[in-house]
Order: sequence, then C-alpha cells, then structure tokens
Amino acid sequence: MQYPQQFDVIVIGGGHAGTEAALASARMGCATLLLTHNIETLGQMSCNPAIGGIGKSHLVKEIDALGGAMATATDLGGIQFRVLNARKGPAVRATRAQADRVLYKAAIREILENQPNLSIFQQAVDDLIIDNDQVLGAITNIGLRFMAKTVVLTAGTFLGGKIHIGLDNHSGGRAGDPPALALAQRLRERPFRVDRLKTGTPPRIDAKTVNFDGLEQQWGDDPAPVMSFVGRRDQHPRQVCCWITHTNERSHDIIRSGLDRSPMYTGVIEGIGPRYCPSIEDKVHRFADKTSHQVFIEPEGLNTHELYPNGISTSLPFDVQLDLVRSIKGFENAHMTRPGYAIEYDFFEPRDLKSSLETKFIDGLFFAGQINGTTGYEEAAAQGLLAGANAALKAQDKDAWCPRRDEAYIGVLVDDLITMGTKEPYRMFTSRAEYRLLLREDNADGRLTEKGRELGLVDDQRWAAFCEKREQIERERQRLASSWVQPNSAAADKLAPKLNKPLGHEYNLLELLKRPELGYGDVAHLLDDSVSVSEQVSEQVEIDVKYAGYIQRQNDEVEKLRRHEETPLPVDFDYTVIEGLSNEVKQKLIDTRPQTLAQASRIPGVTPAAVSLLLITLKKRG
Ligand code: FAD
Repeated sequence: MQYPQQFDVIVIGGGHAGTEAALASARMGCATLLLTHNIETLGQMSCNPAIGGIGKSHLVKEIDALGGAMATATDLGGIQFRVLNARKGPAVRATRAQADRVLYKAAIREILENQPNLSIFQQAVDDLIIDNDQVLGAITNIGLRFMAKTVVLTAGTFLGGKIHIGLDNHSGGRAGDPPALALAQRLRERPFRVDRLKTGTPPRIDAKTVNFDGLEQQWGDDPAPVMSFVGRRDQHPRQVCCWITHTNERSHDIIRSGLDRSPMYTGVIEGIGPRYCPSIEDKVHRFADKTSHQVFIEPEGLNTHELYPNGISTSLPFDVQLDLVRSIKGFENAHMTRPGYAIEYDFFEPRDLKSSLETKFIDGLFFAGQINGTTGYEEAAAQGLLAGANAALKAQDKDAWCPRRDEAYIGVLVDDLITMGTKEPYRMFTSRAEYRLLLREDNADGRLTEKGRELGLVDDQRWAAFCEKREQIERERQRLASSWVQPNSAAADKLAPKLNKPLGHEYNLLELLKRPELGYGDVAHLLDDSVSVSEQVSEQVEIDVKYAGYIQRQNDEVEKLRRHEETPLPVDFDYTVIEGLSNEVKQKLIDTRPQTLAQASRIPGVTPAAVSLLLITLKKRG
C-alpha cells in the first residue's frame, strides 16, 4: 500500500544522525517523516552514555548553534559535567557530560514529538524506491510505500550488523535490536562502494556488587558547565560521582589466555575497529609493556545500578570477560549485567558523497552518521543535521550548504570524509582542524547561528538570545575600551600585585586585558559593578582580545585560500588528459572527484604542482 501523504523528506533511522536530520528538515518547514525500527529507542546511546569531550563537544556546540537537539538533551540528561583541558588554550577546551541514558532519550523524544512538520513512524525499512537514479521514497517490511522528494539514510551499525562475543556470533543491529539485513542487501545491489567496520562495547556491572572503598573518586566541575548556548545550569538533574580503577598484570594474563578464542585475533572479525577507542585486548596486545590501564567507572543513570566501565571494551568470550572483570580492584565480586561485544557492520565509501552528504549516484538520497565510516554520537548528529538541512534545501529547490573548514568542525568532518575517505572508524579531534583557534567551542554560535537563522534552522527564541549576546559582547568591549587607568592611580594600585611592571602611561581596560598576567576578572574589578555580565559574554570578550593576533593570522590564511575554495571542478572533468600529472595523482582525483580546487589540494598525494596544472587546465577550458 502507498501511504496517502507525500512527504518532502523521509529520514530512515532514529539514532543520533536521524533525529537531528529529521528535526533540521522539519524546522526548515519541510513535511518530514522519521521512519525507525522502534520509537522506544529514539536517541538511544548504543555505547557509553556520555556526550562531548575533546573535538566532540565542538561538534555538539555547532549542532546547538544551528538549532539542533543534542546539547539541550545533554543539559537535561547530564549527571556529571566537566571542562576538559581547562588550563590549556581555548581552542582545545572541551565540555564533557556523563548522561543518564533514560533522561537523555526522554529529552530527545520529547523534542521530536513536539516538533511541528515532523511525523514519526515505527517500522523497519527494507528497500528504497529508486527510479532512473532518483530516490522517490522507502518501502517498509510490511510493504508500506512512503513517498518523498528526498531521503536521508542513517542506519548506524544496523546494516548487515553482526554481533560477536568470543567465537559466537549472530546478526543484530546492536545488543537487543534487530539488524537491517534486507536493506543492506538492496543497497549492495546499487553502485555504492561498501565495506565493513567494527566497534565494541564493555560489559556492564551491577554497582551493588562493587566495592568502592579505596577507589579514586571523580566529581564533576563545580560550578558545572552548560552544554547548550541557551541552556541553564538549573536544568541539570542531580549530579553524581564517577570512580577510577585500573587493570593489572593478572587482568592482562587473563586477556592473553583468551586470545585464541577472540574473534579479533582469530580472524573471525574482518572489519577494522576504532583506533582511538580500542578494545582492552587490543590495548594489552599493542602496548605489551604496560602493566596497567585506567578504567573509568561511570554510572549509567540516576535510577539504575548499572555501571559503564569505560576502558575495557571487549569481545572476548563471556568466561574470559568475567575473570577479567573480577581481576580488577573493586570488581572482585562484581556481577556483570550485560556482556561486552563487538559489532561488524556495512559502511559506504564517503568519497561517493557530495559535501551536502547527497550520494553522487542517486539523486535526492543523502547518507549520514555511522554508515559514512564515522564513530561517535556527536559525529553522527553533526552529519545528520547537515544532511537533513540539505535534504530540505533540495526538496525546496534551493542550493546545498556545507560550512567550510575554517567555519566549523562540521566542515572539517565532511571535507575529511569526502576527500580522503576512511579505512577505520573516523572520530573528531581538534588536531584535525587547521584553523583550531577560529573553531572554538565557545564561539560556535558566533560562527553559525546567523547562517542557521538564514536557513530556517534557528527559532525565534534562540535567535533573540543570540542577538542579545552579540550586543552584550559589543557593549562590554566598548565599556572596557572607554575605561582608562592612569599610572599611579588607585586603579593602578589595585592591579599592581598582578602586573609584571608598573604602568608607564594610561591604558584602557581592553588594552590591559591583552596582557597575559591579567584576566577578565582583574580588569572588570575596576569597573562599575552595577553592570552584570554573563560568563559567556566575558569569556568571549577575553578570548577575542587575548588571541586577536593569532586569530587575525588564521583569518589571513583563510582569505588566501578562499580563491581555491571558490573554484569549482566540474563533475565530468577528464583528469586523464591533463599533461604532466602522474597516473597516481590522476587516479586519486578520479576516485575522489573533488568539488573544488581546494578540496583537490587536500587529497593526500596531490601536490601543489598538480594543483597548478589543474588550474591551468581549468583556465584553458574557460
Ligand atoms: P545509530 O545510533 O546506530 O542509530 C541507527 C538507527 O537507525 C537506530 O534507531 C535503528 O533502529 C535505525 N535503523 C537502522 N536500520 C533501519 C531500518 N532498515 N529501518 C528503520 N530503522 C532503522 N561510538 C563511540 O564514539 N565510541 C565507542 O566506544 C562506541 N562504541 C560502540 C559500541 C557498540 C556496540 C555500538 C553499537 C556502537 C558504538 N559506538 C561508539 C558508536 C555509536 O553508537 C554510533 O557512532 C552512533 O550511535 C551512530 O549514530 P547513528 O545515528 O549513525 O546510528
């Protein structure tokens, strides 16, 4: 049967990518359908119940700046918040929250259910409706046909998902959920390049059976940071403690003794796992000289005794997992509530995508999330928002949008994927961004909210809050710039204990704030305290002033490269006829089919000389 309503956008999959995609499309005014296996698992965290961290919180703040849900759900579900790298430079500072997985999921579901233009339907999608390389809709497992102008696929780890515990394996999307086998098969019949990746999760532990005496406690920051630009500290639920324990030599012996029954070490698993989130057996094998590895013990929520032992992801057989767990301090009598496991799944070569995340082969079909070779909720959500927005733009006959590498980590993520592809699960790091100082988490709203508003992603309330903050920043800069301190004055005396040398002449407070020995608090102290300035505003003023020189330098570099960013390369460009290009470079260009000259220059192995040749050929073509 064909469903009576024609949608603008269909999103398949209600994970982190799918929920942001559906919300983005609906916010932009498109009639949107979210089709997912199970409404109860909307926004489910398959692994660690934590959001943010280095590189990842930058993505969360960008999603938030564009009106997305992840940061708000984190503020509503977060049970421990910390700022990582707090003493380092602002470019690498990152917010991380441990979340109550039930509260987080409930927050996402509430946001989805209250979103105008969005319908949700529970059913497995078994196939896409495609005609003449144009997507027209999706078919569910009971033969229901849903039609739409564009479709966003966000099937996560479910396509051909295979779960491994020791040498036992079975099909599954993640523990407790069915895989998407029919859809995986249909997609393999299409021209996409498909490969396998794997990821894993640790066993969970019953807190009632853990001896916490002597374990190191880890509390969140006080005051707790807030994830969303429009979030408030008083939205946070009760905050809890985490603990730290360690593996030991006995744990490592147990692991080594089980490697002959490990699916990874016996070749049963073929997919490559996340390098930066390795299993404990991988860590013990690769770092054989280390006698101990840290394990963070993180509560799964406020109303459960389950604990997540972060650091011992494993797919070893159950008996080895149990011995391993019980060899760890505090876990001597631990009861495991769920075994750890690895999962292998299909992913698609991301070089077959445009920067809008539309596939190059099927018009109107967008891919987002884990299926593009990434790992992590934040990476998935960021792609989801972008794909959802572009699916909506396409349905509205408008041009696609993708932020540049100097505008957003979302831009870095997408450009890395579509330019270089990936052979292992890709996760975000601040080191992946060449313009780190421009892409701070604190200024994500300044970089993106205006664009989000223009696209229709940002609602009136967020826009008003953003405009107010922007004005406050400007007012505060002016207040500092027009407040002067004379040498040998009472104000100068107040600053004297902090200054390296006494003031030689008069300075305004903005100039003084540039000095490394002074912080915003020191100079604000000299001002009329009837004006109250929020932390967000003072932080922004301080960073902009202190790093102005570096920021300017990065902006100059961006400007220099802008010409190449704006030089398009035709999709049908015949690289084989360019004289002087090596066959290797030609092949790389053919494999990637870059959209711009700048993207071509970022393909590993494409030299500056090759880029010059490309430019000359382009000019000749006219
Ligand atoms: P998912 O969150 O997987 O969501 C996919 C959604 O699509 C689900 O709701 C599913 O029901 C639905 N769906 C799929 N197929 C269909 C269909 N045919 N019809 C209808 N609905 C469908 N990330 C890390 O950063 N670190 C880790 O250590 C880590 N470990 C992990 C361990 C395991 C065991 C798993 C399963 C995942 C792990 N991840 C980890 C990855 C993290 O869970 C994903 O990166 C993230 O959830 C991806 O989001 P997504 O939206 O792309 O997909």
